[in-house]
Amino acid sequence: MSENKIPYKIYLSETEIPKQWYNLNAVMKIKHDPFLNPATLKPCTADELKEVFCSECVDQELNRKDVYIDIPEEIRDFYKMYRPSPLVRAYCLEKALGTPAKIYYKFEGNNTSGSHKLNSAVAQAYYAKKQGLKSVTTETGAGQWGTALSMACAYFGLDLTVYMVKVSSEQKPHRREVMRTYGAKVVASPSDTTEAGRKILKEFPGTGGSLGCAISEAVEKAVTSDSCRYVLGSVLDHVVLHQSVIGMESKAAMEKYGVSPDMIIGCCGGGSNFGGLIAPFMGEKIQGKNNIDFIGVEPASCPSLTRGRYVYDFCDSAKITPLAKMYTLGCGFMPAANHAGGLRYHGMSPIVSALYNQGYMRAVSVEQTKVFEAAEMFARIEGILPAPESSHAIRVAVDEALKCKETGEEKTILFGLTGTGYFDMSAYKQYNDGTMKDSIPDEASLAQGFSTIPDIPQNK
Ligand SMILES: *Cc1c(COP(=O)(O)O)cnc(C)c1O
Repeated sequence: MSENKIPYKIYLSETEIPKQWYNLNAVMKIKHDPFLNPATLKPCTADELKEVFCSECVDQELNRKDVYIDIPEEIRDFYKMYRPSPLVRAYCLEKALGTPAKIYYKFEGNNTSGSHKLNSAVAQAYYAKKQGLKSVTTETGAGQWGTALSMACAYFGLDLTVYMVKVSSEQKPHRREVMRTYGAKVVASPSDTTEAGRKILKEFPGTGGSLGCAISEAVEKAVTSDSCRYVLGSVLDHVVLHQSVIGMESKAAMEKYGVSPDMIIGCCGGGSNFGGLIAPFMGEKIQGKNNIDFIGVEPASCPSLTRGRYVYDFCDSAKITPLAKMYTLGCGFMPAANHAGGLRYHGMSPIVSALYNQGYMRAVSVEQTKVFEAAEMFARIEGILPAPESSHAIRVAVDEALKCKETGEEKTILFGLTGTGYFDMSAYKQYNDGTMKDSIPDEASLAQGFSTIPDIPQNK
């Protein structure tokens, strides 16, 4: 392999960390529909959004004109502690598969939080601090987002309250301790610290909580506290914007070696890593400068793109957020209880949804046993223990590389390896024990989810 001129790991230098994020919203010819205020069904104004979110993030959210948005030096300084992230040529995987395809992955698990979520957490914490806020709130399910935000808030000296879904905080006590080590206050949700929490506790005394309930508590806490805002780790356009640092770095690293991808693959939960990874490449596709095959991968048990509807829906199950036009399974949809692979959000980023609707990308859904099979293979061959979420992308990258083996095509495949799986060992245990099952929702469970989509004129 020594004659290969592409190294195993392509590292950019510190000075090559992107100075700007890439705003897909400015490039898209057909813009996605605006958020609606559920009470008036009129587009949300910036002022309405600024009551809940940090001002600068709202301005970024609504920015449809600047393709490049400067990354403040303070954020780049933080990025320098763990970026640029490596772009790895998966020589060992290629060899094991016997494929002529050239496989690259962008690894975002090289920081303590273990995922790409830190890229947006640090930006959002910075803007909150700059606005003079004292604290922020958020919710977390599995804990990656809460951990990333805890790190960012510790760095900028902001107080943070994380509402963590009660079952997760019981099942993942170590995640909770990581957040507390970084100074966050972690509250098991539902809690008696908010009106929303008390109401749910009264109705459902022994409940283990849900993400929707944790969101309600976090938003309530933010809007009822002084100098406090709510921050979200996925779905929204400004989060996708911050994640474009992944795509900007990938593009710079590939260009340095004269490589251009034929195919870009990423896992899709709320769509932030995928939207960020593809951003500058997709911008060029929209401008007619490339014909890259973009593939978003989702779990077969939570298939918002491949089986959902493109309508206005609430972003949370408690129905308190604005309405977003997106592919959704219905805000009341719950993936089957045995689903262990993450990516369980009912909707999809409005940007990714619009790109899919406009035919700029494809989507594929995969079953979790197949995902863990790919995860284990990847761990053994490439060394990294991948997050279950990331392993959705690995699965499809492997499948596409195997297709190349049949056809003899030497495609260049880039996929996003969003994080590590150390806190997901109970899911790996299920797989190793052979107790993991696939559960694909039947038409009746989809219909049940769709019945929770708001019945408004915009959805007719
Ligand atoms: C949260 C998470 C995801 C999914 O979130 P997106 O917003 O779709 O990117 C994927 N991988 C990892 C490791 C995560 O923590």
